[in-house]
Order: sequence, then structure tokens, then C-alpha cells
Amino acid sequence: MNQSNFKLVFMGATGTVTGSRTAVIAGPKLDDRILVDCGLFQGLKELRLRNWNPFPMDPGSIGAVFLTHAHIDHSGYLPRLVKSGFQGPVYCTPASADLLHIMLLDSAHLQEEEARFANKTGFSKHKPALPLYDTADARAALELLHPTALHTEIRVGDRIRATFHDAGHILGAGSLRVDLMNRSTSANVLFSGDIGRFGVPIHSDPESPDSPDIIVMESTYGNRMHPLDDPYDSLASVINETISRNGVLLIPAFAVGRTQVIMYMLREMQTAGDIPKVPVYLDSPMAIRAFEAYGLHENSLDSETAFMRRKGDHPMKPDNLHFCSSQEESKALNSITNSAIIVSASGMATGGRILHHLKHRLPHARNTVLFIGYQGTGTRGRTIQEGRESVKIHGSQIPIRSRIESIQGFSAHADQDELLLWLKKFQSLPRKILLNHGESESIEALAKLIARKFRVETMIPEYLEEIEL
Ligand SMILES: [Zn+2]
Repeated sequence: MNQSNFKLVFMGATGTVTGSRTAVIAGPKLDDRILVDCGLFQGLKELRLRNWNPFPMDPGSIGAVFLTHAHIDHSGYLPRLVKSGFQGPVYCTPASADLLHIMLLDSAHLQEEEARFANKTGFSKHKPALPLYDTADARAALELLHPTALHTEIRVGDRIRATFHDAGHILGAGSLRVDLMNRSTSANVLFSGDIGRFGVPIHSDPESPDSPDIIVMESTYGNRMHPLDDPYDSLASVINETISRNGVLLIPAFAVGRTQVIMYMLREMQTAGDIPKVPVYLDSPMAIRAFEAYGLHENSLDSETAFMRRKGDHPMKPDNLHFCSSQEESKALNSITNSAIIVSASGMATGGRILHHLKHRLPHARNTVLFIGYQGTGTRGRTIQEGRESVKIHGSQIPIRSRIESIQGFSAHADQDELLLWLKKFQSLPRKILLNHGESESIEALAKLIARKFRVETMIPEYLEEIEL
């Protein structure tokens, strides 16, 4: 490599939203090479198979890893990287570190389950089928975490410095500014990470840190907008209608982020007198642990939420909230005959405790199942949402007689307008914007808009493409 050149290597999240991992190379030594995010590929089989390929660069030749946030598509490959020889420090914010303990162990558990299933069904070509990584690998990866506060400079060798800035996406989520220098030149690049929304509860607005040369920017919602209606009113009316039928409202929700936002709104509605204080059950061990993490990091929350926390108030805990940690507590919810709200995981009803609740509640017209997130093609959530007559759960066909509702607008991602607003807030515009983390249509739409509105050069990196800075 030419002495004065720095380069980026895009090893994922190119033309897709998963497998975020980009190498920054500033020289020949170990400490001159870092990896920004270390995500798992998810979704289509063709992408998932990449998780099993050898990592595109020798993991032992990477000096440090930086994780923008704890979501698995940004962090879930880390245990495999460590298993394959990476030994350096892993930098993330303190709140991300707490969430990573929850999420990587859960991910390892899912990998183990998948391997067990493959062995039971003879589904795999490999005998025996092995997990991508196991719990011990996840624990080894967690040992390498170096939690570092926002706005604190981290030095890796003498050529790389990096700083996290608030991205407002989920608890602990950051954008990462990386400054590169050698004897003859310098450059800097800002990795947006996943950009959150403006003016939503719990999470702060995303920051637009000082004048980056180059931005590597996510494009998840590059071609679409969130609905204009506030989900508050729709949620209140779904709750009140269900209560008027003496039914149970069942909400499948992602354990980290989405669940906490729903709880915040329930509490707000109770306080305003917009819904009665029926019992609320949170039935997800992972969501309960995430609640603890949200409680421990009040400085990472938006100022209003943090203020209420300091007053000893918990804005994410509605009155009459009950945590169900054990399986017995979860099963006991089946005996509830009066109105109640049950929030459980997984968000797309692909597994977890939500399944036994669906089995129990779907056959009765007085209940409601409410989807508050995107239901991927082929998931059980999508089948129920599409208005079919029945759905297969635990091997039996369950009739769907309950009401099925969907409310959008709970996304933790900036939409098209908010992505542009984020860019507008920079004091000076970058010289170039590299767009990743979006389906092709989203990326291309955003590239066109940026060129038109800001007259900044955009590039769309391809998988394994190397780009000189
Ligand atoms: Zn994310």
C-alpha cells in the first residue's frame, strides 16, 4: 500500500441491511487495521451462507474492533471472529456493552439450537452439524469489550483515533468518527451506524458531529417515509376496543428498544387517562434484562426520560406492570380471563414465548393480536398478519378468530426525511458519501436525493470492494 493512502474494505451491508462490517486500513501494522462493526448476515440463505465463509481478512491481523451498537446485524459475528483468531480490544459504549451481554449470549443460544435441530432432522450436510459459535465463544468475545463513553477519544496505535457520538437509534447506539494520520497526510471518516429518529421518546436525537471528510451512511429507509399519524392514537384505540370486548391484547415485540418504547407509551396513556390501568405483563426474559440496562444508563437516554428517572420515576414502567421471568409465570398468563395486555417476544413470532400465547389467544374473537414492527416474508407473524384462517404453531393448525391489527411508525430508524435532516445538520458537508446498509432501491433513491439536494459526490460500495480515501 502506498504510504499516504488509507482505505476502506466493505465486507457486508452492501446492497442489504445485514452483515455490517467495514475494515479501515491505515498502514501495514496490526494497530493500523480496525474493523467497524462485526455483524451477522441474516435473511436470505445466500447471505446467511457468508457467515460460514472464511472472514475476508485474517482476523488475527485486525488491531481492534469498534461496534456502533448491539443489534446482531452489527455485532453478531464477533464471537466467530474471536473464535477465528481475533484477539484485540472491542470498543463500544458502556450501554452497548450491557446490551451485548444479553444479545450475544442469546445469539449463541440460537446458533446452538439451530445446530441441534439440524442434527435431529438430518438437515445438514455436515455430520455432526456445528453451531457458527457457542455460548463459550460468545463469553470469550464479551471478555474483550472495552466500554468507552461517548465523545471520548480512543487511540489505536499512532495512526488511528476514534470517537463515538450519539446516534439515537437504540440504547447505547453511536456513530463513529475515525481520524487517520501518518507522516504525510490525514483523513477522517464518519460511520453513521444506524441513525435514529428525531423527537421520539427515550432515545436522544442523532448527533451530526463536526465536519467529516467522508461519511459512510446507512440507507435503510432511503426510499421511504414513516406514516405521518402518531402511533399513540391508533395504539390507544386498539387497547380500548380490546378492553371493551373484555379481551386480551397480545403484542409480539422485539425485546430491545421496541418493548421499552411501547411501555413508555402505555405509561403516558395511563397518566393522560386515555386507557384504563389494566394489568400489563412483560413476558420476555431478554426484554426484562434490557429494561435493567435502560435503567442503568439514564445518561444515555433523552433529557426528559433521564430527568424523570432521576426523580425516582420510571417512565418506561406503566402502573400495574408485571414481569414474567420464569416459564411458570409465563404459562400462568393462560389462565387470565379478564382484559390485560401481554407483550412478549419474538417480534415476528418466529420463536419464543409469544408462540404459546398466540396458540391460546388466536382462536377467540374477543382478543387482539397487534403487530408493531415489520413482519418479514415467510415468518409466522406475516402469515397471521395476512389474514389467513389458521397458522401452524408447534405442529398444529391454530384457527385465527381474534382481531389482527398492525400499527406502523414505531421504527427506530430515521426515514428518508430524517436521513436528509441528519445530513443537513452538519456544519460543513463531507467531500464524499458512501452509502451502505440498505436494499438496492433504498440506496439508489437516497444517492439521487443527496446528489440533488446537497451536490455531494456519492458512491455505492459493492461487497468486498476496497475504496481509497
Ligand atoms: Zn440497528
